[in-house]
Amino acid sequence: MILVTGAAGFIGSNFVLDWLEQHDEPVLNLDKLTYAGNPENLASLRDDPRHVFVQGDIGDRALLDRLLAEHRPRAVINFAAESHVDRSIHGPEDFIQTNVVGTFHLLEAVRAHWGSLDGEAKSAFRFLHVSTDEVYGTLGPGDAPFTETTPYTPNSPYSASKAASDHLVRAYHHTYGLPVLTTNCSNNYGPYHFPEKLIPLMIVNALAGKPLPVYGDGMQVRDWLYVKDHCSAIRRVLEAGTLGETYNVGGWNEKPNIEIVRTVCTLLDELQPRADGQPYSSQVSYVKDRPGHDRRYAIDASKIHRELGWKPAETFDSGIRKTVMWYLAHPDWVAHVQSGDYRHWIGQQYGAL
Ligand code: NAD
Repeated sequence: MILVTGAAGFIGSNFVLDWLEQHDEPVLNLDKLTYAGNPENLASLRDDPRHVFVQGDIGDRALLDRLLAEHRPRAVINFAAESHVDRSIHGPEDFIQTNVVGTFHLLEAVRAHWGSLDGEAKSAFRFLHVSTDEVYGTLGPGDAPFTETTPYTPNSPYSASKAASDHLVRAYHHTYGLPVLTTNCSNNYGPYHFPEKLIPLMIVNALAGKPLPVYGDGMQVRDWLYVKDHCSAIRRVLEAGTLGETYNVGGWNEKPNIEIVRTVCTLLDELQPRADGQPYSSQVSYVKDRPGHDRRYAIDASKIHRELGWKPAETFDSGIRKTVMWYLAHPDWVAHVQSGDYRHWIGQQYGAL
């Protein structure tokens, strides 16, 4: 069994669905079900005995100790986090609590569990921490992409909290020998992405006839990776990564935000044209930039390619088309998220929150 934290969120739920498509090894899913946790993402696993869901906090040491002793997972993969930069600007406290303090409690519980193992179980155990390229700060137009040795210079409360968690994970390896692996990935996109993030927000607003808000001049550059490629990278690092190492994961797809928005609009024009025949790009509306907005992120993913043979399966063109098609095919999922009905669904599944 593997323990996956935060697996009702965007990347975690994609990871669990992919994992169980490829393995029979069960997954214990520990998720607090914040606003970003949506078990409806895992509705297809409702009657699947390989998926065990527990609602709880990575900061709850007693719960962690009990779960680790009872299920004895061979690996822990930590996706649980507060993940939205804008929310971190308006209210950083939850980010410190989950991303820093929560990761600390999780590391402590895992350290105790790992210490209780022996022989093959001890040497095979892994703790994989999922992190972001935002810890590296921002790049100028001509700067080389981030490598694993780029110094950390986080600029938002979100990226600072993730940087702190990465440092703790690193220190637990250095100090206690805990068998850790860390991945730092670029921006993900794909199915089950909460519509507060750029790509799903644009799709959902476009279809609803609402403005498509673009920060500043829209020339902030991000590197984009289809979520299932991120999941395959995590599986590969878990399987073959060198303990204590970090691996950058990216798609070699640097794009300014405005180009992403235009691409989404063009795909929607093709797949579901507006009734009045106007292009969706006519809904673009430039808004005041986010404070401290990083200008450019770019990931050098050559280490994971060279050492572990990983590369993405999707190009940006194929991944973004799949994504737009997924949102068009899942209006109920979008409607439940927007209306908050998914929380009602949680109540039905797991008892009232
Ligand atoms: P998300 O916000 O969609 O999901 C986070 C999940 O964690 C939710 O299900 C939430 O309920 C759960 N959670 C929050 N606090 C918790 C707590 N205290 N205890 C247990 N569960 C808790 O995030 P995501 O986009 O899926 O990101 C997952 C991880 O990947 C994060 O660590 C994030 O930093 C990292 N990451 C994300 C991206 C991206 O583009 N989305 C890119 C690189 C790295």
